[in-house]
Amino acid sequence: MGWDLLNFEPHIYNLNSEVPNVEKNISIERALEILSTFPLLLDTEIIDVNDAYNHILSEDVAALVPSPPFDNSSIDGWAILSSDEPKDRKEAEIVFAGDTIPRLLEPGEAFRIMTGAPIPPNADALVMVEDGLQGIARKNYIRLQGENIQQGTIALEKNTLLSPSRLALLSSIGHSSVSVFTRPKVSIISTGDELVEPGKELKPGQIYESNSISLASLVKKAGAIPTTLQCSDNIDSLRELFDQCAESSDLILTSGGVSMGDHDFVRRLLIEEGEPYFWKVQMRPGGPPIFGMWKGTPILGLPGNPVSSHVVFLMLVVPWLSHPDLFYKKIRARLKSKLKGAKNKTVFRRIKIHSNDELTATSITHQGSRNINSMVVHDALSILPPNINGDIGDIIDALWLID
Ligand code: AMP
Ligand code: MG
Repeated sequence: MGWDLLNFEPHIYNLNSEVPNVEKNISIERALEILSTFPLLLDTEIIDVNDAYNHILSEDVAALVPSPPFDNSSIDGWAILSSDEPKDRKEAEIVFAGDTIPRLLEPGEAFRIMTGAPIPPNADALVMVEDGLQGIARKNYIRLQGENIQQGTIALEKNTLLSPSRLALLSSIGHSSVSVFTRPKVSIISTGDELVEPGKELKPGQIYESNSISLASLVKKAGAIPTTLQCSDNIDSLRELFDQCAESSDLILTSGGVSMGDHDFVRRLLIEEGEPYFWKVQMRPGGPPIFGMWKGTPILGLPGNPVSSHVVFLMLVVPWLSHPDLFYKKIRARLKSKLKGAKNKTVFRRIKIHSNDELTATSITHQGSRNINSMVVHDALSILPPNINGDIGDIIDALWLID
């Protein structure tokens, strides 16, 4: 026991003096700052708007036309002159959506008009078909040219995530294609001799491998392209995979093998043979992530425990690779359960949000970072600052997850 410790400790200290760039036990903010110096969203491409869902805009987009392009009717009814007496109104023309304006209204004339049809330029009010031709003259039922967006104004800014409503806006202002960031290619390597693919029989000491499916799904949701690979706890096989993935991908994510175990080869390889930048982040769960470069490709070693790898992905990878809007909303909620904090670490306990008069949060099941069920029965993460416990009645910050 004593020898194991002695073997281990000098090993780490020597490594630190050999590689002075490794920052240890850093804050989440510092980790994000370091990651951001290795941008993943660099290449851009022009794609059809129909393929652009969940892509991120790489430049500002201005309106090619005003929206709407012309004054038009928001109702089915009549276009009129409000100066006419209601009893004098006579229907003179019918205008459908898609028609051009036949002519100006003469005094006493009303044009029957359908929703979306253009308004004669001198019409200053509309009457609803429900009210009859002698009904109330309504000036605000005319949709004015450019009231949605004026031609030439920036409708969406660079870095905006293209959601359904934003795509609709792009179409309505005339864009058939957009410039977006190219989806990065992400290799995901799960490490561990104990891991078995679901569907196979579990032998003593083995568990089913579950991180590659969650990480690959998270990567897809982030708008990137995942490739999953498995590796035994063998340093030579892992080195070979690192080499292969460095060639084929923009980012390598690993799971497992980053903490203090004798078989934690991701950490060892990156520190001894790679270009490490940080190891360990002040967060719980997910304390031991390691980050560095391997032959020119960034590699982030995520912890093996399923909740830890998931939470580290949300906290460190999402803002770096993708867009937080896709994954969570920051909220404030009143605690209905106690939450345990941690010394010097931000704590992301799994909590369930209830939305009644105010948002409240409860914690239901076991919080162990091994237990992925805690991510399923809860739907949010607390953001407990370091050294603070959450008491019943406290209002805390939290991330409401979009799973
Ligand atoms: P490690 O960091 O490799 O020591 O892994 C920490 C814990 O996470 C261990 O209990 C592993 O069995 C578990 N673990 C590691 N990788 C996976 C995985 N891909 N799927 C499920 N559990 C894992
Ligand atoms: Mg392991």
